[in-house]
Amino acid sequence: AHDITFDLADEAATLHFGAQLAKAVTPGLTVYLHGDLGAGKTTLVRGLLHALGHAGKVKSPTYTLVEPYVLDALAVYHFDLYRFVDPEEWDAAGFRDYFNPATICLVEWPEKAGDLIPQPDLDIHLQPNAGGRKITVSANSQTGEAVVESLAH
Ligand code: ADP
Ligand code: MG
Repeated sequence: AHDITFDLADEAATLHFGAQLAKAVTPGLTVYLHGDLGAGKTTLVRGLLHALGHAGKVKSPTYTLVEPYVLDALAVYHFDLYRFVDPEEWDAAGFRDYFNPATICLVEWPEKAGDLIPQPDLDIHLQPNAGGRKITVSANSQTGEAVVESLAH
């Protein structure tokens, strides 16, 4: 299947899903996170990063646009582009180089940066659903397909 949907009843379920995702992701992956403010995008990233061994805080980098997490064998870049306004900043800040075969990039509000960001291997959509959230993970590449396949088992 190209996509898969789950119900997440509460915040703990979102964190747990992030941990499941952590087991499935591979270096080189670009993931777009879609959903309104408060949908749970950062909560999901927090669950993923904690499962990958990050012990500290995970907050949305609303003003800095990106937060790097250098883990054991992997760098994870968490973008929040909600306040992104200046396309020239993209290259000036070296953001392009963050997307490479050794890193995982998770991007909140990717549409704010238009065509500047590489296309995603996965699109993740979060939306409110009966007090909890519905999450859909869609694959756009072979690497993405492998992640969806792994989440299905
Ligand atoms: P975003 O990054 O999308 O703006 P956050 O993750 O910062 O959203 O905030 C999401 C809010 O929703 C938090 O208050 C969190 O506790 C809550 N939340 C996360 N997942 C769920 C869920 N599955 N059900 C109910 N509330 C959730
Ligand atoms: Mg956020």
